[in-house]
Amino acid sequence: MTDKKRIAIYPGSFDPVTNGHVDIAQRATNIFDQVIVAVSHNPNKDYLFTDEERLMMTREAFRDNGKISVINFSGLVANLAREKNAVAIVRGLRAVSDFEAEFQLALMNRKMNRDVETVFLMTSFRYVYLSSSIIKDAAQHHGKYEDLVPPIVIKMLKQKYQTQD
Ligand code: ADP
Repeated sequence: MTDKKRIAIYPGSFDPVTNGHVDIAQRATNIFDQVIVAVSHNPNKDYLFTDEERLMMTREAFRDNGKISVINFSGLVANLAREKNAVAIVRGLRAVSDFEAEFQLALMNRKMNRDVETVFLMTSFRYVYLSSSIIKDAAQHHGKYEDLVPPIVIKMLKQKYQTQD
């Protein structure tokens, strides 16, 4: 046995963070000593929120959980994992449709860093249809989404789309 802290990275776009993400990260803290939520910047992706906004909302969502820290990053998750001495990369799986892309990503990450394992957590049943894209659509078109995201995200979406109750 070693008393080394077991660190996991939970990477994603978090554009914006949803209760589905929060659930996965919190459940990951039951397995790991520390979970680093890594808000990615991918120059090939179009985000609704800026890097700073995504970081701020995600930090706010996890602010009461001492085992979770939130950082910005760009580049390869495999390199970030090495830099942070992480033992695992955490990803969430909703449906079979997530599987193929996640499988490919996990194999690539394994090829680039053999010291880190990808760990998949199944979504909680109530979040199975929840995605950041669905939230953005709902917010833009006056749908109901407020019970599916942290309060800071409701505030930021209302600002973005200039909608009030
Ligand atoms: P990415 O662009 O890296 O897919 P996302 O922010 O969309 O970033 O998702 C980050 C991770 O969280 C992914 O592993 C995704 O499958 C998972 N995830 C997103 N929404 C949910 C949800 N409702 N339940 C479980 N996992 C989810």
